[in-house]
Amino acid sequence: SADFNRHDVAVLGATGSIGGSALDVIARHPQRLRATVLGAGRNVDALIELCRVHRPLHAVIDDADGFTALRDGLASAGLQTRAHAGAEAVSALAAGDDCDTVVAAIVGAAGLPSTLAAARAGKRLLLANKESLVLAGELLMAAARDGGATIVPIDSEHNAIFQCLPAPDRLAAGQASAGLARIILTASGGPFRGRSRASLADVSVEEAVKHPKWSMGPKISVDSATLMNKGLEVIEAHHLFGLPGKRIDVLVHPQSLVHSMVEFIDGSTLAQLGLPDMRTALAVGLGWPDRVESGVSGLDLLAQGGRLDFEKPDLEAFPCLQLAYDALAAGGTAPAVLNAANEVAVAAFLERRIGFLSIAALVADTLAALPAGPADSLEALEDVDQHARRQAIQGLAAHRMPA
Ligand code: NAD
Ligand code: MG
Repeated sequence: SADFNRHDVAVLGATGSIGGSALDVIARHPQRLRATVLGAGRNVDALIELCRVHRPLHAVIDDADGFTALRDGLASAGLQTRAHAGAEAVSALAAGDDCDTVVAAIVGAAGLPSTLAAARAGKRLLLANKESLVLAGELLMAAARDGGATIVPIDSEHNAIFQCLPAPDRLAAGQASAGLARIILTASGGPFRGRSRASLADVSVEEAVKHPKWSMGPKISVDSATLMNKGLEVIEAHHLFGLPGKRIDVLVHPQSLVHSMVEFIDGSTLAQLGLPDMRTALAVGLGWPDRVESGVSGLDLLAQGGRLDFEKPDLEAFPCLQLAYDALAAGGTAPAVLNAANEVAVAAFLERRIGFLSIAALVADTLAALPAGPADSLEALEDVDQHARRQAIQGLAAHRMPA
């Protein structure tokens, strides 16, 4: 019936890059998709603006101090949208009855509680917030299995793999089938591809966030420049698809047209290709299991230059990728430490308090200072996350740039 294909969607991180792309796709399908919940971190004005356009049932701001401004702003815009504030409200709305689909597009570990809540509540979970998988992958995948949630990865690489996997494996929530040999994640190489380590000491914030192929929020743009993004994605792929790190490879592919590849034991490799525009991945999730229009045109390989190049990542210039492989191999709390230290380091870099090379150094120092322990409960992981943040903040002093 028509109702089967109608979905009420919560977009968490609605004011961000992924949130905007999700709302663009949703607005193309008014018969099928409705944004019922919009959530943002602090920017009340931007959230109200989105409410004017999309008229959701609920708007939620993480910053509890933003409640009055949000409520009054919605009222003076003449909107019926109900105002909410605080992290608990974000999670309650993600798990609540006014949505069946959740776009998890909050940046950083701040996205974990609402992502977990959506998984436990059995939502169709469009998962962009990779940090929650890095921090608590086992718990999140278990919550999705127990809650009956369908996870559609909204990272271009993992969305590509999802599309290439046979139907039963796609939704197996972290259990690899016998036929799957290897995953090959592609990486654009970021704005500093081909540069030597020494030449990266003095790069500016502006240079680091200027991604050659994708337009993204500031944190993931810096992660792409350090290749930590690809490291986080290796850990993300491990949890989503159930392969150990040694069967997850990374190939630099500067054109960013092949979004990733899956190799099977019979020698077949499948790839998904398309223009670098996140609306395609979002449409896969929002339309699932159907294909729906995304606003992205098909791929004209000749117009794109007629070439697909591949090269090895340079681990000397970009040590973050190796740090992530090592953290995955160490297991337990190590990926949580990696993620927390990286969030602190990237924020400090964006504030011009440390240099580019200090990001990797700070993550390495933090990992060395905090030996990996078991990661068996959410409380344990949240403790480790906080502990690693404090450790990294202390470590900043050693890397501080002259003012
Ligand atoms: P962004 O900075 O553009 O947007 C982040 C959003 O999260 C904003 O709406 C912000 O208000 C919200 N937010 C921040 N802190 C919050 C908090 N504590 N509580 C509630 N909301 C909060 O980031 P982005 O580029 O859209 O990335 C979002 C996530 O998607 C990240 O995890 C990123 O790694 C992942 N991702 C992004 C892309 C991309 O193309 N942008 C691709 C793959 C994966
Ligand atoms: Mg990606």
